[in-house]
Amino acid sequence: MITRRGKWLRQKKIDIHVNLCKGCEICVELCPVDALEMKDFKAAVKDLDKCIACMQCELRCPDFAIEVYKKITRRNLWLKK
Ligand code: SF4
Ligand code: SF4
Repeated sequence: MITRRGKWLRQKKIDIHVNLCKGCEICVELCPVDALEMKDFKAAVKDLDKCIACMQCELRCPDFAIEVYKKITRRNLWLKK
């Protein structure tokens, strides 16, 4: 986390809680930019740079196993994600 004015406070990030993931592959199928993949029957981040933070994976995961964070700056701290 960088706290100087105008710098990112939080980088784009995808948290996958593997303990909650049931391996249904919905998120992988839904991702429009092929940023996710399956590894050992669990969802995994394939390419974070490709992610456009559309939130589809987080919204459609039936087990609440994915959290997506967009870049947050001091100027837009009101944005939760
Ligand atoms: S949609 Fe959720 S439960 Fe299904 S594979 Fe993705 S993270 Fe796992
Ligand atoms: S937020 Fe959208 S682009 Fe990013 S991994 Fe999830 S479905 Fe793919």
